[in-house]
Amino acid sequence: MESDRGWKELFLIEVNRLGWAFGEREWKALETYWEALIRANREVNLTSITDREEGFWKHFYDSLAVAVWPGLPESGRIIDVGTGAGFPGLVLRVVRPGYQLVLLDALQKRIRFLREVCRKLEMPDVEVCHGRAEEFGRMKGRREFFDVAVARAVARLPVLAEYLLPFVRPGGWAVAWKGPEVEEEVREAEGAVRKLGGTVEGVFRYALPGDRGRRSLVVLRKTAPTPPEYPRRPGVPEKRPLG
Ligand code: SAM
Repeated sequence: MESDRGWKELFLIEVNRLGWAFGEREWKALETYWEALIRANREVNLTSITDREEGFWKHFYDSLAVAVWPGLPESGRIIDVGTGAGFPGLVLRVVRPGYQLVLLDALQKRIRFLREVCRKLEMPDVEVCHGRAEEFGRMKGRREFFDVAVARAVARLPVLAEYLLPFVRPGGWAVAWKGPEVEEEVREAEGAVRKLGGTVEGVFRYALPGDRGRRSLVVLRKTAPTPPEYPRRPGVPEKRPLG
């Protein structure tokens, strides 16, 4: 697009600097994604960011910033819990076509958009699921099945740990996209993470280019099976976070 001329090059440089081999094919996919998002956003609330350049940095670059964590596997099973309009999971699938991706969200109208955009992106193998993490995390074939569970802007870490860790196979990871100040949240979540069979692997920090803000990724490692009582019933993790 003509109006992208000023920043497209910088975006490509910055994404490649993160470590992705990101070229025209990937750019075109993100353009298709953005156009579908903005069109659907007129009717369904999917994003508050409607400026194209801001969207590319704050949604797409931010999703791809997971590369600051050196442990991200090259392939495998990945679930994005509370994916909303597909962030970060669907963006990662653009750069890692080998991922077997499941997108999960509790809101039906977002699911409809996700199915539509997967069709436009020609990704028929992406599984789009309507439901709550507390229910899916108990299902056979979902529980302890994934190499990586990811979530961005879904819940505070003690709650999120209960959503994510049940999905992860022992030896796998849960990754939470967070703002700049996470120390207290991580401290608050330590008990919950332990009870769910995990440990805090580390916090990885990054900045969105152009002074668009600092962010953190919190990576949890699954070290033991999650006890059968978790996740608790829908709504309970949020109402009474594990301590
Ligand atoms: N991850 C997206 C992003 O970064 O833009 C969406 C964030 S949005 C603020 C939070 C999403 O999480 C919503 O779409 C909501 O429906 C979903 N959500 C919240 N709690 C959930 C749960 N327990 N199970 C499944 N989805 C949930």
